[in-house]
Amino acid sequence: MESLGVLLTYPMNVYLEQELDKRCKLFRLWEAPQRKEFIKANAHAIRAVVGNAFAGAEAETIDLLPNLEIVSSFSVGLDKVDLAKCKAKGIRVTNTPDVLTEDVADLAIGLIITTMRQICASDRYVRAGRWIKGDYKLTSKFSRKKVGIVGLGRIGLAIAKRAEAFDCPISYYSRTEKPDLPYKYYPSITALATDVDILVAACPLSEETRHIVNRDVLDALGPQGVLVNIGRGPLVDEAELVSALLDGRLGGAGIDVFEREPHVPEELFKLDNVVLLPHVASGTYETRKAMADLVLGNLEAHVLKKPLLTPVV
Ligand code: NAP
Repeated sequence: MESLGVLLTYPMNVYLEQELDKRCKLFRLWEAPQRKEFIKANAHAIRAVVGNAFAGAEAETIDLLPNLEIVSSFSVGLDKVDLAKCKAKGIRVTNTPDVLTEDVADLAIGLIITTMRQICASDRYVRAGRWIKGDYKLTSKFSRKKVGIVGLGRIGLAIAKRAEAFDCPISYYSRTEKPDLPYKYYPSITALATDVDILVAACPLSEETRHIVNRDVLDALGPQGVLVNIGRGPLVDEAELVSALLDGRLGGAGIDVFEREPHVPEELFKLDNVVLLPHVASGTYETRKAMADLVLGNLEAHVLKKPLLTPVV
């Protein structure tokens, strides 16, 4: 792969960066003071882009790269890749499905429990020396609560299986019913939210799903309901989420992804019924290494003209 020029858009993983450095000609976009000029200056050599959930291969980048052959994304979600443009220009696209499913599903369950049992707020209570003055307030039970999943794909299904172990009835909303699965299907997200205690957003971000969790859905979930978002920030209308939480129209929220990352609405910082994570659902050593190996494997397959490991386009 020595001749392959790779544009790495973001410092996403040390192991991946080292391996790309060893095997290819690597261009680190984030180190360039003038990114557009940097891409233009090296465009002749760049045949691959490796991006992630923060910086991918948007139309503007693709247009600057006449020799681009492949986008190998260090993520399963491809909302930062212009798939239509890639398809039109014959640029191959790969992602990292499956290897991160367990971690993301584990974290979704972790977010449900930390939010409902207020584990983070209880921890802050102990650290602040407040236990001496009195016991912590009561919190909400998770086991046997009704869980609704938006997007019953690889990750949604893994969340469902985990929630079943807590004796939670599972239902879901997606574009198509999955008749082979033992879960109740709702063709409307608002109807799903009305009938569940916990709503988990686990679908891809697209023009169709932007703000799919809007004011109506939050109000349907209600003052006892909990929202968990491990999909993408813009799936949720964040201004409406903040207002629902501040007004007490929503019971709580566990959030890994935000609309304007890394910026998080500061009004949420004071709420004990909210858990805020910095987009870390797949962030374990094991999974990030597996994702990196998949990115490298796809690039290698492309260079060797073998079938790609996880082709999307
Ligand atoms: P997947 O297997 O493709 O599942 C996506 C599911 O969403 C499918 O079941 C699909 O079902 C449903 N869906 C697609 N478009 C929809 C729409 N317009 N309305 C309702 N449902 C829709 O993907 P996955 O591997 O589970 O990953 C899901 C998403 O999780 C990724 O795209 C990514 O954005 C996010 N993610 C986040 C993190 C993180 O760090 N927080 C990590 C990994 C992944 P139908 O086709 O029946 O609609």
